[in-house]
Amino acid sequence: MPVYENTKLILEEIGCATLVCVTKMIEPERINEAIRAGAIIIGENRVQEYEDKRDDILPCETHLIGHLQTNKIKKAVDLFDVIQSIDSLKVIRNIDRRARDLDKVQKVYLQVNIGNEPQKYGFGPDELKNAITEILSLRNVRVEGLMCIPPFVPPEQTRYYFRKMKALFDEMKQENGDNIDIRTLSMGMSGDYRIAIEEGATMVRVGSAIFGKREY
Ligand SMILES: *Cc1c(COP(=O)(O)O)cnc(C)c1O
Repeated sequence: MPVYENTKLILEEIGCATLVCVTKMIEPERINEAIRAGAIIIGENRVQEYEDKRDDILPCETHLIGHLQTNKIKKAVDLFDVIQSIDSLKVIRNIDRRARDLDKVQKVYLQVNIGNEPQKYGFGPDELKNAITEILSLRNVRVEGLMCIPPFVPPEQTRYYFRKMKALFDEMKQENGDNIDIRTLSMGMSGDYRIAIEEGATMVRVGSAIFGKREY
């Protein structure tokens, strides 16, 4: 797969939106090709996998986009510029504590289970509205965005969920006004990033459209 060319094309196509180049299961050599083509943010799903690869990856911003287990929180705060996968109050309280120990303010996005799917991680939309006051009171985390993984449906049907996410994003910004730095709406992957951008995504997370199908 021509990683360099794919990255260039996608960067051009998404215009002002930000690309997170999703690098799970991808070797550093190919990740570096994407970075040379202009990707400035990489997204990894697992703390350990990123730790194993990081010495061989060119300088870039790093985002954690996979579910964070309690025993990996310390390491995640050490390693990632942004943790996009905040999916419970328990996790964010823990991150706040760990960041305080390090005298750091950890940037985070809140993951929303926009389809209210029982098996999926993330705050339900109503749950988020109830939790937001406490979340914004934590001093060592800064909430800069919302992230979602919509239900697995054909691409065109994701539009409905992206639209719901955009409405929630606007509502959160409006209601929390001055207290909040929420400016990033992270949604859309290889199959549906064009639709996500049409519906207001400011950041897309793209893996296989850059690197080809992952070999598990
Ligand atoms: C793997 C992954 C992506 C990218 O998926 P592709 O379909 O390969 O683009 C985006 N977001 C998350 C959270 C992922 O786990």
